[in-house]
Amino acid sequence: MTREPLINDQRQCAPQSAQLNPVNIQKSVQAMLPFRLSTIFPTQCVVCGKACYRHYSLCLPCELQLPQLGNCCFSCGMEYAATALVNGICSSCQLAPKPFYSCRSVFRYQPPINKLLAAFKFHSRFEVGFALSQSLAKQMKRHYESSYKPDYLLPVPLHKHRLRQRGFNQALEISRVISRQCDIPVAHNLVRKIRDTPAQTEMSSARARKVNLQRAFVLSDKPGIKNVNSIAIIDDVVTTTATVSVLSQTLRSHGIQRVEVWSLARAAH
Ligand SMILES: [Zn+2]
Ligand SMILES: [Zn+2]
Repeated sequence: MTREPLINDQRQCAPQSAQLNPVNIQKSVQAMLPFRLSTIFPTQCVVCGKACYRHYSLCLPCELQLPQLGNCCFSCGMEYAATALVNGICSSCQLAPKPFYSCRSVFRYQPPINKLLAAFKFHSRFEVGFALSQSLAKQMKRHYESSYKPDYLLPVPLHKHRLRQRGFNQALEISRVISRQCDIPVAHNLVRKIRDTPAQTEMSSARARKVNLQRAFVLSDKPGIKNVNSIAIIDDVVTTTATVSVLSQTLRSHGIQRVEVWSLARAAH
């Protein structure tokens, strides 16, 4: 089995002994260029609008004020008082375990995060997505210094109609930033969304959401998944966990042993 159909894994193309091969040089230039340019030509902070000299458009004071999550359930990622968790798990997850190993997010889905994510998704403000993705990438990088890295990142797929309408998949844009910083390849064509379902946030009941998502995802590269053991699903915001649960079940039914979920923001529901 080869990994090529799934991924953009440039590491496999590069000879291990060669530090200065064209791939490495190209990666180094790409990594350094925004930083060098940002010291000469400042960008505008996406929150306060002031000049920003960092390699992403979010000044340090604004970044420190963003609403970061506190104590969260290890399993579902919901924020709780520390006393409400037993061994890091909330009572709901103890009663009904999730089909994924863990769910982790950086921010609470509240102002200004919800407005920033809307600007990214619905107005193609890529600099906003890029800036917020830095925090998730940093958190994941720290986490994987002492934990096994997943084999692939899997951006939650969009149905082709929604992709055509929006022009890009926000989860893929976030995954690109994480992939570069954490050195984990992106599984581009592993799963397709075959049902054009309404946004989960537009549906009222949990049952309606569940029915809506049934058989929404299919594996588009079954041979490619044969030797894959672990996958990290990436999304912009996790609300009910209905979408990532169905996606996790799809992956686990094809032999993926460990599925983690990471997102920029976690909404209370
Ligand atoms: Zn600012
Ligand atoms: Zn929980």
